[in-house]
Amino acid sequence: MTSEAKKPAPVPMLDVGRGNQPLKQEFLDAIERVIDSGRFLHGPEVTELEKTVANLSETAHGIGCASGSDALLLALMALDIEPGDEVILPSFTFFATASAVARLGAEPIFVDIDPMTYNMDPECLEGSISARTKAIIPVHLFGQCAPMDRINEIAESHGLPVIEDAAQAIGAAWDDRPAGSWGLVGCLSFYPTKNLGGMGDGGMLVCNDEAFASKLRLLASHGMQPRYYHKLVGINSRLDTIQAAILNIKIARLADYAKARSEHADRYKELFQASQLHEIVELPRKQPKATHVWNQYGIRVPHGRRDALKAHLQQQGMGCEIYYPVPLHMQECFSDLGYSLGCLPNTESAAREILHLPVYPELTLREQESVVEAIESFYMSGAYRRVA
Ligand SMILES: *Cc1c(COP(=O)(O)O)cnc(C)c1O
Repeated sequence: MTSEAKKPAPVPMLDVGRGNQPLKQEFLDAIERVIDSGRFLHGPEVTELEKTVANLSETAHGIGCASGSDALLLALMALDIEPGDEVILPSFTFFATASAVARLGAEPIFVDIDPMTYNMDPECLEGSISARTKAIIPVHLFGQCAPMDRINEIAESHGLPVIEDAAQAIGAAWDDRPAGSWGLVGCLSFYPTKNLGGMGDGGMLVCNDEAFASKLRLLASHGMQPRYYHKLVGINSRLDTIQAAILNIKIARLADYAKARSEHADRYKELFQASQLHEIVELPRKQPKATHVWNQYGIRVPHGRRDALKAHLQQQGMGCEIYYPVPLHMQECFSDLGYSLGCLPNTESAAREILHLPVYPELTLREQESVVEAIESFYMSGAYRRVA
């Protein structure tokens, strides 16, 4: 083989343009309608999206807010979480799950994960409940629900509310019951990399309890009711009308997006098996009860080779990413909480070994082949042996 051997075209980790481009005229028309209406906040498009998302989540209420991070914060505020309280959550998640707790002066209590699914281990949850525990936040990581039947059972036996961090899991389900409908409240995000990605920030809360929904809505608008009379010290957190107009167009395609992601996951499995790589790297596992929406596709790279494989893939133009390299209990900002390396072994090994590959709906078969071929070339090359 000469050095001129054909290099495959680069594969981006995510290309939001591919999904948005074909809908561009629809977006522009919708944005124009909002501009003409002048109702940039609280427009009818927001109400429409709230209804659609609540329906899809099989909940009675949907409350738009500015981001998934704000949804978590608002849920905790509505539960009156305050200094001295403890909230249990996994350490293997995006920062916002924990920062919402810390922001209110409460203490995040980090628990370990099931190494097969990367989701909260219910037995670790049970062992961490104390007299100060005020809430539990399971995270449906990478698009697969945490075992909500078991988590709810534990929560109920201790009389504790459950806040689902479903930021990565819109459209997912556990035992055919949608993400966001298991807990007291579910938190969704429309950040551009999520399965329902907007063109900026956005989020939503879904819940069944009418009084709780009203409190969430109140807290998201300065605790104000009626105008200039403030019942609670709320925040300003709104989903704007233009964002909702865009999301109304995309949500009609959400099931197709999830189907494409799921097909890509199946295809990766076939490609990895065909090349015997599944005996070296560990493929993601779908639980029988889970309807997985594949927000991310993460493989586990054993024997300390993960970072070398990542460097090799990047050098080959293959997009890949690590979610998440540093577990939250090891973050500098949480150093005063007193965790140390070794506290949460499953979390720590996942953070050392996981590597995510492109899985967005518009990914092509040829691109998936390129990604898997690049991984194969790593294991056949000196790049692999050098790390040994
Ligand atoms: C994205 C994300 C959030 C935060 O959502 P934003 O809309 O970006 O604020 C919270 N939790 C998890 C697990 C996420 O992936």
